[in-house]
Amino acid sequence: MSDCLFCKIINGEIPSNKLYEDDKILAFYDISPIAPVHFLVIPKEHIQSVDAVNAQNSEVVAYIFAKIAKKAGIENGYRVVSNCGHDAGQTVPHLHFHVLGGKEMNWEV
Ligand code: 5GP
Ligand code: ZN
Repeated sequence: MSDCLFCKIINGEIPSNKLYEDDKILAFYDISPIAPVHFLVIPKEHIQSVDAVNAQNSEVVAYIFAKIAKKAGIENGYRVVSNCGHDAGQTVPHLHFHVLGGKEMNWEV
């Protein structure tokens, strides 16, 4: 999608600090980290949010999780978050998983 921020990061129009990339997914560090380790993992295919995951496009989600487990490299555990829609605070309408770690986290909403 031409007006999507994360599609622009995927195609190099907007620079990012990349952690991992292959033909299906990209992982890059969040520009405003909220934990000592905070990166985003996104599919290269434009999927709007978790809400738009379906039987036809869900393979990449399993692929992302398989890669997160291997790439996170965070010794004491990590949290995966995907904000979906307005109330969750989703600001970029391209499916992304926040991977947070490097400190003990509480659980507040
Ligand atoms: P959301 O609020 O949609 O769950 O998460 C979007 C995330 O993208 C935010 O944590 C925000 O800091 C990050 N972000 C927004 N614009 C950019 C950018 O241009 N580069 C990078 N690396 N992260 C961005
Ligand atoms: Zn996109």
